[in-house]
Amino acid sequence: MGARPLYFYTFFILSCCQSPEPGTNKHIKSVTAGITDEALVNASASSGDWITYGLNYSEDRYSELDQINDTNIDSLGLVWTLELGTRRGIEATPLVVDGIMYLTGPWSKVYAVDTRKGNMIWSYNPEVPGYFGPKACCDVVNRGVALYEGKVFFGTIDGRLISLDASTGEVHWQVQTVDTSKYYSITGAPRVVKGKVIIGNGGAEYGVRGYVSAYDAITGDMDWRFYTVPGNPSEPFESPAMEAAAETWTGEWWKYGGGGTAWDAMAFDPDLNLLYVGTGNGSPWNRIYRSPGGGDNLYLSSILALNPDDGSLVWYYQTTPGDTWDYTATQHIMLADLEINGKERKVLMQAPKNGFFYVLDRESGELISADPYTYVNWATHVDLSTGRPVENDFSRYQEVNAYISPNYYGGHNWQPMAFNPETRLVYIPSRENDFLYGSDPQWIYNEQGFSVNLGWNLGTAVDPSKAIRSDTAAPENLPQGMLIAWDPVDKEVRWRVNHQTQWNAGVLTTAGGLVFQGTAEGQFVAYKAATGEKIWETSVGSGVIAPPVTYLVDGQQFLSLAVGWGGAGGLSEKNTEHVYPGTIYTFAIGGEEPNPKLPEMPRKALIEGEITANSEELEKGETLFELNCSLCHGTLGSGGGALPDLALSSKRIHENFKYIVQGSFIALGMPNFTGKLTEDEINLIQQYIFATAEKLRKQL
Ligand code: CA
Repeated sequence: MGARPLYFYTFFILSCCQSPEPGTNKHIKSVTAGITDEALVNASASSGDWITYGLNYSEDRYSELDQINDTNIDSLGLVWTLELGTRRGIEATPLVVDGIMYLTGPWSKVYAVDTRKGNMIWSYNPEVPGYFGPKACCDVVNRGVALYEGKVFFGTIDGRLISLDASTGEVHWQVQTVDTSKYYSITGAPRVVKGKVIIGNGGAEYGVRGYVSAYDAITGDMDWRFYTVPGNPSEPFESPAMEAAAETWTGEWWKYGGGGTAWDAMAFDPDLNLLYVGTGNGSPWNRIYRSPGGGDNLYLSSILALNPDDGSLVWYYQTTPGDTWDYTATQHIMLADLEINGKERKVLMQAPKNGFFYVLDRESGELISADPYTYVNWATHVDLSTGRPVENDFSRYQEVNAYISPNYYGGHNWQPMAFNPETRLVYIPSRENDFLYGSDPQWIYNEQGFSVNLGWNLGTAVDPSKAIRSDTAAPENLPQGMLIAWDPVDKEVRWRVNHQTQWNAGVLTTAGGLVFQGTAEGQFVAYKAATGEKIWETSVGSGVIAPPVTYLVDGQQFLSLAVGWGGAGGLSEKNTEHVYPGTIYTFAIGGEEPNPKLPEMPRKALIEGEITANSEELEKGETLFELNCSLCHGTLGSGGGALPDLALSSKRIHENFKYIVQGSFIALGMPNFTGKLTEDEINLIQQYIFATAEKLRKQL
């Protein structure tokens, strides 16, 4: 056979092997089709993509990319920004495959972005009805999507699980995963394991029963559902695990839901075929009302190891038996192999809200260690022989009102941590705080889940007939936010950076010797992974809560971060002058100077309104404001958070105040108070706002 001319080969290569133009349907179809079970099992191993929530099934958020490192970070700069036009919290981890990015924003909206151009390819709005907003305890946030075989999966605030075509954003299937008459919501990112889309839900503050479900990725049919707490024992149990769990409850807990919602953490070990899921707090919080005879109340605040094929329980570890503080164990679950006492162990790590850092054998569930990573006083320690915490006499706040640390925000919340196998350190977005817990003597179960007069179904409030144990208060410098580097083998903090405030962002660590984190003060910061030395920062305007991701596009390393202030700690407070619209920031070596240009934002003035109420009426207005408005809108004059400070609302808003309170802003998530507040009461609330604004103006 004679030699073929060179042009033949050139033609052959161009026609057969050239990939489609990036960003086109054909390109997106082909790169997202490549996200198979095998690709997910091997995710991150030197790949330049970020194809699943925690980067890989171990969820370690450690990128092996090192083009951006501690020697060249001075030249890290902005490449592009993309405004999403949103106003509420953004908690999403963007997923990226060959430069095509998928992320979610407020109200469960989904965006597909071409990172080569910084352009939107498509966006999808699931049209969540506004009246579902108040069903989400902690803002209408969403933590991201799952990708699998050309499809994008995500959950919605109103409880749907939706599959979209990754190249067009068209709906492939959607299912309703919750009873919409109850106060369920989905904020967590699904994971895809062996062709099943796994999704949980939230709502334990309102009185729901938690569960996690698996849906077939192709058809949307439900494969299995695992309830995390037992239902009414006079009805058949759904699983042997529920029958066993019912032994640990007393009273008529099923009437109050019980809680245990699985709203965030999942990890998967393909070798052991175990899916790990974290469960939430009890509903109501106060165990005396939920399970008056005591008991551990399985499987609240637990780490569950499930068989992903059928959803059966293989083992569990309960971090907080008989939870009564909102100590969820839904926080980030991370898998790693660690040498402990000279032996290589396959471990699972978690820093749940309760303040102890847990290392478990992930095959057996055996507790290896549990040590405080933050200020803790609800328990003196965890007894390794029993695996149980040893509580203080005041901790359950029944005889006294007591300051308990950590509080309901937790020593660590949903903000993801990261594990760097080179430094052998876990980086935890952490905080120290306390809260005055008491047993509410007047609590009655509110079937509506949330009531304007009764609030959430918690059962906690300071009991005025009982003493306050002031000696249990945390040290004076609290509350405080910090980033800590925790050594999971030596069980101690290696370094610590203190933040100005508590509600800071999730983290990323890289082979470039770096840890990245955004702050509540609107800075995006890089630290040396070994020492915590701050070596780079830039301003992004609004406070940051989401974690950054890093990936390769055409061989170059990029870093992206979605910025949108909000979430539990950001609804009614902020630590920046303004809250800017949600924006994606992307950085690379050689980008522009740091400190991107931020849009002009008008300064807001205190409202001026005619005050006709007398002091007694104003006092009544204040009480009504505290009961109905302050949870979301915060303290008057404080500036507000993701939601507005009503003392700074415009004249136009105040002219329509009555109608807004009676439902005209329901599409924006503002509850409708018709039938709950009379027109006179609405007027008194507004009078109180006018009077407070007047007082504040005089102080200026
Ligand atoms: Ca909770």
